[in-house]
Order: sequence, then structure tokens, then C-alpha cells
Amino acid sequence: MREETGAPAFPALEGRHPCFSTTAEGHNAAARLHLPVAPTCNIACAFCRRDFNRSEKRPGVAARLLSPDEAVNIVERALALLPNLAVVGIAGPGDPLATPHALETFARVHERWPHLVLCLSTNGLALPQHVDALAAAGVETMTVTVNAVDPELQAQITPKIAWQRKRVDGIAAAERLIAQQLEGIEKAAKLGLTIKINTVLIPGVNNHHIGEVAARVAALGAHLINIIPLIPQHNLAHLKEPGMIERQRARAEAAKHMRVFTHCQRCRADACGIPGVSDYTNELYGDGLKVE
Ligand code: SF4
Ligand code: SF4
Repeated sequence: MREETGAPAFPALEGRHPCFSTTAEGHNAAARLHLPVAPTCNIACAFCRRDFNRSEKRPGVAARLLSPDEAVNIVERALALLPNLAVVGIAGPGDPLATPHALETFARVHERWPHLVLCLSTNGLALPQHVDALAAAGVETMTVTVNAVDPELQAQITPKIAWQRKRVDGIAAAERLIAQQLEGIEKAAKLGLTIKINTVLIPGVNNHHIGEVAARVAALGAHLINIIPLIPQHNLAHLKEPGMIERQRARAEAAKHMRVFTHCQRCRADACGIPGVSDYTNELYGDGLKVE
């Protein structure tokens, strides 16, 4: 989404958040830190394989979990290491709203360092009931992963969810998840948050559905969309990663409805630095938790 010319799309975030900066200069001015404080998830995506290791560079992976106490210490260390640290995000390894750890961490970080942009990434199932608290804790930017707005397709992508302490499967699960996501996005937009949608592009499942997703979320107030090519693993390991033509087609469909983000690095849940430019995770976890 970086543009060499033109006015920034999100002036309040330009140079303060690499992923919401729309000029190369703005992108390169701000580092982000992901805090891996979210231990579990409340849904089960068919492609998800969360792991703890130091080698893989993809979402859902961290060297280890942090408690909110440890996370505050890591922010302190990161600020000493990276004078341009501007964003503290929580993006896993599970869903940040499935447990209270993320909200507690955000509140503590905001109290101590109110100048930092707080950024959340969620599947949206628990968003409607937490969005007010997130805004009150200082969260400014949010990513909601919406892979389909058609329950038939969604049920193939996320076949089960945990809802009100019970397991829900199939179409009922898909309908609930979509309804929660859309309600959460609308509420977050009304509260003034800047909202990015992540959509995992899954060949043979939602590749002809991207325009519909973009149209629905744009109508509710989401600001940009990031089409992420499937990493074929877990129960979708038999599928192919979408190629360049398929990605371009999906982006073009989305672009009819909203701004498209094109430089996602599919970062780890403990990433630190400027996405695609610098990585300070090893230096940050200088306690034997080397990330290679
Ligand atoms: Fe995995 Fe994220 Fe899906 Fe949860 S929402 S199952 S962490 S991909
Ligand atoms: Fe930005 Fe994508 Fe990395 Fe998130 S995963 S911090 S959107 S580059």
C-alpha cells in the first residue's frame, strides 16, 4: 500500500504506524513490536497451525508466550533498543480477545507510554463485547480477519467455534462468527478506530468471494483490506498457495470497494522492527530466546 506520491491516506498515523503509512517515508519511520500474550483461540481455522519456535516467519508463531508483566518489561527494553518504536501490537499466537491478557497488557502499556499506538489483531468473535474497553485502553488501530461473509464458505474455513462455553459447528458457527465480526467492525468504526481487514485468499474456497467481503466490510466503515495468500498447512495442507495472477485478481476485486494493502510481511506474533526492513527480535529477547 506504500505510495511514493500523493497525500497520506491516514494522516494521523503516517510515520506512526508502518502498516497504516501510505508513503515509503512514513513506513520506514516507525517500528512496531508484537507482544505474544494471547495463549489460546476461540475458533478453529482449518489452516491454522500455532507453534512456538525460533525459525518460522509467519503469523501464529512466537518464541514463547509472555505474561502481561513480562510484556511490559519487553516494551521497556524495546524502547531502549529502538528509539523509533511507535506501535505496540498484539497479534497472537492465539486470539487476543479469547483471554483477558491482551486487554490487561494494553491498559498497562497505555498508562505508562501513552504516546505509543496500540494495535490489535483479532478474528472478531469476541469483538462486540470488548470494543469499548479496547478503545478506552487506548487501542487506535485494529485488524479483523474476515475470510468470508457467506456462511457456506466460512464453514469450510472455520468449521467450529467456542461460543458461550459451548462448541458450535458448521453453518451455525459460521453465521455466528460472521455476525460478530460485522457487528464488531461497525462498532469499532463508530468509535473512531482505523480498521484493516485481513482476508486469507484460499484457492477453491473464497477466491471468487473477495469482492463481496470487501463490499460488506467497507460499508461498515473498515478502511483497508489486506489479501493474504494461504500458507497451506494443517487441514488445508493439500491446497496450493495462490499464485501472483490469482492474488492480483483478488486485489483488483477488493479495490473496487476499498483501499488495498499490498506489503504485508506475514509477521510473527513476537516481531520487532519495521516490517520488511529490520528485525530486532533476537536483540530484544537477549535472554537465550534467540529467534533465527
Ligand atoms: Fe488460528 Fe487465528 Fe484462526 Fe485462531 S483465528 S484458529 S489463531 S488463524
Ligand atoms: Fe503489518 Fe502485515 Fe506485519 Fe501485521 S503482519 S505488522 S499488517 S506487515
